Amino acid sequence: MGNILENTLLGLDRPELISLMDSLGQPAYRASQILDAVYRQRVDSIEQISTLPVPVRQSLAEKEVSIGLPKIEKQFVSQDGTVRYLMQFADGQSVETVWMPEGDGGEAGDGSEAGDLAERLTEVEDPKPNHRPRQGQNQGRSTICISSQVGCAVDCQFCLTALLGVKRNLTAGEIVGQVCAVLRDQNVSPPKDRINLVFMGMGEPFLNYDNFVRAARLLVEEVGIAERRMTVSTAGIVPRIYDFAAEKVRPKLAISLNASNDALRSQLMPLNKKWNLEMLMAAAKTFPLRTREWVTFEYVLLGGVNDAPENAKEVAELLRGVRCKVNLIALNPGPGIDFTTPGTERVAAFQNILRQAGIPAFVRRPRGRDIYAACGQLKRTVEIATTPGPVIAPPSM
Ligand code: SAH
Repeated sequence: MGNILENTLLGLDRPELISLMDSLGQPAYRASQILDAVYRQRVDSIEQISTLPVPVRQSLAEKEVSIGLPKIEKQFVSQDGTVRYLMQFADGQSVETVWMPEGDGGEAGDGSEAGDLAERLTEVEDPKPNHRPRQGQNQGRSTICISSQVGCAVDCQFCLTALLGVKRNLTAGEIVGQVCAVLRDQNVSPPKDRINLVFMGMGEPFLNYDNFVRAARLLVEEVGIAERRMTVSTAGIVPRIYDFAAEKVRPKLAISLNASNDALRSQLMPLNKKWNLEMLMAAAKTFPLRTREWVTFEYVLLGGVNDAPENAKEVAELLRGVRCKVNLIALNPGPGIDFTTPGTERVAAFQNILRQAGIPAFVRRPRGRDIYAACGQLKRTVEIATTPGPVIAPPSM
């Protein structure tokens, strides 16, 4: 029964809820009522599942079953409209979840100007031309960035989350719960409101593979977010890329490349010593893509480290023959991160080399840097939240 051990309804699928109801002597349609309340109405207590008879609600309460919606402990709002939520779970652990409203017609939160472009070209339908967002900033193309683990074990040298180490995996219910809590707080609802979802928050989704896959399935089947609006990013856990290729419900794939050769990548991302570029590229090249789908490669540009024209040429060589696009991310700085952010000209030069080689390359607009919500910055508020008194600077590596 998977998540039933955690005693939360969030994380359970239809068959599991049917058997839970069966154990209470209830008919199968009760499962539909719960699914609707938990994933679509996003209630936060059993009491609020008004379609369930009171004795059933009481039996659930007696079994200490709860919904399992994470608590929004804090939220920080950026000048650009991005909101960084600190989400707390039952055991007191917390992760960060980021809401990126689409404000200026720029890229989606997955960094995909290309994605947007393709969407505009291929999706003729505009569901509601007159639809006005209820919350001002949501113009129907917002993105939620969710976490898959408390902390991260991968140890990328430029990422703040790495400084935390990994505390634990999130359950599927906790992964889905972040989405439900944000949708609730922002007062938006897919599919009416267009929501993109990226598994690009704290943690490495492919090191919490089963829960990630279960969460993706629930998000598609129950919450109603389309597969093609979801992207999972991996640092390069190669065996899981092959597993992922065979999943029935499969979001789009992004791979954090971040270096143009093995020596550099092993230095920046120690996991490259286990799964090197040859292994990674073999998995990427054989990854089964759907129509109008490509693999996204993310490349964090570190001033004077991996951002030279020679690096760009090496990247172009590596990606030759892969149906892909590249998202370039100029380093988002943070305390304890010993790298510098390259200037815009250097970034543009890198981008141009890729484009000249025929690779679609986009520069990702940083979102919420001022509140530490941008890529690789998800760490600081955990400290604020768990450290009484002033914020303590993280140890430098
Ligand atoms: N662990 C997964 C999911 C996290 S995605 C992965 O590595 O893909 C987070 C993205 O932000 C990754 O592409 C990562 O390379 C990038 N990133 C990490 N630290 C960063 C930083 N300081 N500045 C900009 N991007 C960063």
